[in-house]
Amino acid sequence: MRISDEDAARFESFVDSSGGPTACWLWCGCTDSDSYGRFKVGGSVVRAHRVAYLIRHGRIPRGKFILHKCGEHRVDGLDNPRCVNPAHLKAGTAAENGRDRARRSKRRPGMPRAAVRQAARLRNAGKSWSAIARAVGFQKATVKLALTGERPGRLSPIDPATIARAAGMRKAGVRWVDVVAELGWSQGSLRRAINRLAA
Ligand SMILES: [Zn+2]
Repeated sequence: MRISDEDAARFESFVDSSGGPTACWLWCGCTDSDSYGRFKVGGSVVRAHRVAYLIRHGRIPRGKFILHKCGEHRVDGLDNPRCVNPAHLKAGTAAENGRDRARRSKRRPGMPRAAVRQAARLRNAGKSWSAIARAVGFQKATVKLALTGERPGRLSPIDPATIARAAGMRKAGVRWVDVVAELGWSQGSLRRAINRLAA
């Protein structure tokens, strides 16, 4: 399956990369009951993390599963089915998929699953971290950690040098997918930052 530039841009509009390059990028579109994102493309519904992998790599190796490896980047060591950060995704075998699943089910997140689900729903609805923390009854830092895997205080804006590089690459005709791969921020975050700078 190929993802057109238009579909990639539509996909991007559902991605929250506000945690930065090493954080989990939250899928803000629909999710399945098991928290994996859903994205409609070419008349079929595809899991959002698979689409993120396709946009970055062009294809999924034959017979491989797309697995999360968020735990390698997160302070809580947990994988995050909502995550669509290409840096947190890898192609793996069915056996690896099973092992990951077993490992995940043993780990206990800092917040009960129902509260994480509620927090994700509110974040997807565009609520601020403070509002979400109040609604679910956990501290802001705990909620951020559960959803993005970042330490409190690590949620940082894009630094000006990176914004300038992104603007330069776009001006030079570099495709968005390559800019995102190079700089580690999502297209939406970079585009908004460039626009803010130009305004
Ligand atoms: Zn992740």
